[in-house]
Amino acid sequence: MFQSKLPRVGTTIFAVMSKLAQEHGAINLGQGFPDFPIDERLAALVHAAMGAGHNQYAPMPGVPALRTAIAAKVQRLYGIGYDPDTEVTVTAGGTQAIFTAVGATVRPGDEVIIVDPAYDCYAPTVALFGGIPVHVRLGPDMRFDAAAVAAAITPRTRMLMINTPHNPAGTILREADMQRIAAMLRGTDILLLSDEVYEHLVFGNEAHASVVRYPELRERAFVVFSFGKVFHATGWKMGYVLAPRELMAEFRKVHQFTVFSVNTPVQHALAAYLDDAAHYAAVPSFYERKRDRFLEGLSASRFTPLACEGSYFLLADYSAISDEPDLAFAQRITREFGVAAIPLSPFYHDPPPGQRLLRFCFAKSDATLDQAIEKLCLI
Ligand code: GLN
Repeated sequence: MFQSKLPRVGTTIFAVMSKLAQEHGAINLGQGFPDFPIDERLAALVHAAMGAGHNQYAPMPGVPALRTAIAAKVQRLYGIGYDPDTEVTVTAGGTQAIFTAVGATVRPGDEVIIVDPAYDCYAPTVALFGGIPVHVRLGPDMRFDAAAVAAAITPRTRMLMINTPHNPAGTILREADMQRIAAMLRGTDILLLSDEVYEHLVFGNEAHASVVRYPELRERAFVVFSFGKVFHATGWKMGYVLAPRELMAEFRKVHQFTVFSVNTPVQHALAAYLDDAAHYAAVPSFYERKRDRFLEGLSASRFTPLACEGSYFLLADYSAISDEPDLAFAQRITREFGVAAIPLSPFYHDPPPGQRLLRFCFAKSDATLDQAIEKLCLI
């Protein structure tokens, strides 16, 4: 019998809950994707790029105009210059960027520190390449616990994975967290993988504390971004990664043999669309209004929301309603009340016993959110 390389891995919770939602005609606040259309101008740009004949392989690291536009955006937002030729690569979404960065750098026996709850691709990706995921947890209120992370560092630590804004927690890392991370990595050759796919979804007028702002961190980091999250097009599977030249050279050795290059017309369209900063400047307030609408609605329910500082996810505690385990509860409310959400335990190596949290995605039209709230108030 063939021995699985990933014996603990089943189907992702996102696919499981989306299927259940579909079977029961439930409102799907589970898997993270918007239910509203993309900007017509962006769609028109894709169409135009196809009409203009941009339909063959793109250059391996990405269409030059897009890499230049990405570097310009990073410069505009964070005041940092990445070289579009050697330090920017366009990927088939954030997950591919993470897979490729880990594949290019993690050797069998290397330890990779993962902070739980963690996005579900991190640990299996590390394991697939023979790495050893070392799990630590976020601290109280789902905040980064620098002491716990520092205590997990050993001479075998190859990489630390961080994520801000955080999926599924909805919290963000701030300047002080970045300083602590810089301090714990100083003097080591530990790499940093920073998942910043929700970079534009930071609320309360706070700045996104991107790793690229911190020279000590940037020089050892792969920083991962997503177009799907910013432009409401998760199905396009388009993202990019920034890294210093030497690290990016290793990344590209693997990238060329995994996807080689990604969707050409979409790259041309994004290059043109990125030129206008207005196309992403309004994203934080757009989602902050949705968060507030959802929160206000939820206040009439028996769910207790946790702080949501960023991302389009909000955690809510249901211990006032039930003490069922989270997966069972999420499945039951999908079937009985017609709202799907994501249980939190799949994001943990060892789920904290007794934790009763669901993750709700509020990247939905106001009408969808209102309908969902009505149902959630019945639970
Ligand atoms: N990133 C999305 C989420 O967190 C899911 C993407 C996927 O289904 N793989 O819900």
